[in-house]
Amino acid sequence: MNLARFARARFAHLPTPLEPAPRLSAELGVDLWIKRDDCTGLAGGGNKTRKLEFLLGEALEQGADTLITQGAIQSNHVRQTAAAAASFGMACEIILENRTGNQAVDYTGSGNVLLDRLLGASLRMVPMDTDMNAEMETNADACRRRGGTPYIIPGGGSNAVGALGYVDCALELAAQANDQGLVIDRLVTATGSAGTQAGLVAGMAVSGADIPVLGIGVRAPKDKQETNVFNLAVETAALMGHRERVTRDMVFADCDYVGAGYGLIDQAVIDALTLTARTEGLLLDPVYTGKAMKGLIDLAKKGAFEGETVVFLHTGGAQGLFGYHGELEPALL
Ligand SMILES: *Cc1c(COP(=O)(O)O)cnc(C)c1O
Repeated sequence: MNLARFARARFAHLPTPLEPAPRLSAELGVDLWIKRDDCTGLAGGGNKTRKLEFLLGEALEQGADTLITQGAIQSNHVRQTAAAAASFGMACEIILENRTGNQAVDYTGSGNVLLDRLLGASLRMVPMDTDMNAEMETNADACRRRGGTPYIIPGGGSNAVGALGYVDCALELAAQANDQGLVIDRLVTATGSAGTQAGLVAGMAVSGADIPVLGIGVRAPKDKQETNVFNLAVETAALMGHRERVTRDMVFADCDYVGAGYGLIDQAVIDALTLTARTEGLLLDPVYTGKAMKGLIDLAKKGAFEGETVVFLHTGGAQGLFGYHGELEPALL
């Protein structure tokens, strides 16, 4: 496998650190390490930055001058895309879906949304359950009519090109583990639009690093999530010329921690946020990493990681905390 064959724009701060979490480990009774993909460096960082390196590579190759993407209102993907566009002098057109129904001004205007505006993206808000792909096509048509060259990035940057960023992360993690003499039994990540887990699975499979990846779902039920991850992992491996190396048994998603729905928090998420902040000085986010840590904490308590060394992929998102001021502040008093 040779990732250098693929067009790539280089702006991420890599490699991201792999750090022990001794105080959180002691709380959970698990040897826990954190892979700090919250430190990828693009306007606050997060997991979309690695995907965007490959997506921007393709966009620049195609001569694009406008990036078009979509996400939930507090999307971290949108923030990172807006930053990437700004740094390459491209226009950025965003469609934001109010997927949670939250109308609080913090949710609709602060956190990531404030940063999207600061970064110069043009934002268009649409109601819950809008056909987001159709909306992006509408923007792309208008852009072409004006003589522009649009490049559409799917939600979460989750197609095979974007997932190459997480193939690269799998290779990076395996190299760090070798350097540090660390035997990793399991990698745990939040899983949403599936590109992160799919890229990791494809990277582990194609490189032979063979570290099992557990996705903790934030939206879809298990069957749907595992199917999405598997299909994209196969497509990503195929892009690298190794379609046959990804098999269905490599894909695990635990979707028992979604709670009331995508972007909706509960006490166990708040407990995960506070425990991680107060043991490690580490900021998780309300939508993804807080929910994944809620799952990791519960699974650890049930003995699911007995005797294992576990790496938690910190996919970023702390900028979204400010969108949840109304829910979080009363819980923290
Ligand atoms: C998008 C996102 C995820 C989920 O990654 P997918 O590739 O969409 O599955 C996890 N954590 C954070 C902070 C994110 O922004």
